Amino acid sequence: MSIHRFFLPGDCITQSTVVISGRLVHRLRNVLRLGAGDHIVILDNSGWEYEVELRAVGGGLEGVIIHKAVAAGEPRTKITLYQALIKGSNFELILQKCTEIGVTGFVPMVCERCVAGEPDSNRLGRWQRIILEAAQQSRRGKLPVLRNVLRFREACESATGVSLLPWEGEKVRGIGGVLRSLPKTENATEVSIFVGPEGGFSAWEQEFARSCGVWPVSLGNRILRAETAGLVAAVVTLYELGELNGSS
Ligand code: SAM
Repeated sequence: MSIHRFFLPGDCITQSTVVISGRLVHRLRNVLRLGAGDHIVILDNSGWEYEVELRAVGGGLEGVIIHKAVAAGEPRTKITLYQALIKGSNFELILQKCTEIGVTGFVPMVCERCVAGEPDSNRLGRWQRIILEAAQQSRRGKLPVLRNVLRFREACESATGVSLLPWEGEKVRGIGGVLRSLPKTENATEVSIFVGPEGGFSAWEQEFARSCGVWPVSLGNRILRAETAGLVAAVVTLYELGELNGSS
């Protein structure tokens, strides 16, 4: 059985121990039935991970650090997914799956054809928890960042690195070919991927994106649902940049 992993604030970690408190104590003891002598992994969101042995202290628990290592789950390539707001729980599916595969940031985006409204604070809290749980489960070393909601214009203006806009109308430039053709120097520590809502991007949005250096790319001859397209684009990017080959 794999060892349980938990993100904690960095100030819980000292030279040799980890302070465990509150809800995590309850979860370890009463939900996972773990106690003194069991091992868990603590992550401090800096890219380090700490294997600790649990020890009873007073009424609570602390972790004694027995091994510290760089978490292997962080890709070198930083992918930010600019995802148009979409209906229902599909945005959550995107956050969960894209965290698992290695996306490093999410920007919820308001586009002309969005029908979904902007998230309230409850929904944003739920999205943060989905990212946290997916990052713990998939052995990420850092939590992907959920950035503030942006309008499409601001999103294009804020994009960094190689910036790609999957667009079903693009018939020439496939995403893989574009990534393979990058000069080695540009190869590519930062990639921004823009995915539209259920109704796609408007003509103005495509034109504006180009004027900001956000280039349209094809994901193939089939029309993917909005919740599929970002995952496919991120997987192809990670594959083309050599991030899906294990640690060898
Ligand atoms: N309204 C469009 C239509 O029916 O032709 C489909 C929009 S699609 C459901 C939502 C988003 O997924 C698009 O804005 C685009 O970013 C992306 N997408 C879907 N299929 C794609 C493809 N074959 N190539 C590139 N992008 C695609």
